[in-house]
Amino acid sequence: MSPDDDIPPEEICPPCRGTGKVISKLGGDPHPVECPWCHGTGRLPRPTADNGS
Ligand SMILES: [Zn+2]
Repeated sequence: MSPDDDIPPEEICPPCRGTGKVISKLGGDPHPVECPWCHGTGRLPRPTADNGS
């Protein structure tokens, strides 16, 4: 059982898989940077039903 087992999958940020970090290859040297999708939190807001567009 994982400590993260209580986090609903839809709340885990896919690009960083909940780590809050992604590997940037900018500059040719891969390095971890703060995930721009979740701003380092590792989680995304739950999707809302407001998809009128
Ligand atoms: Zn993220």
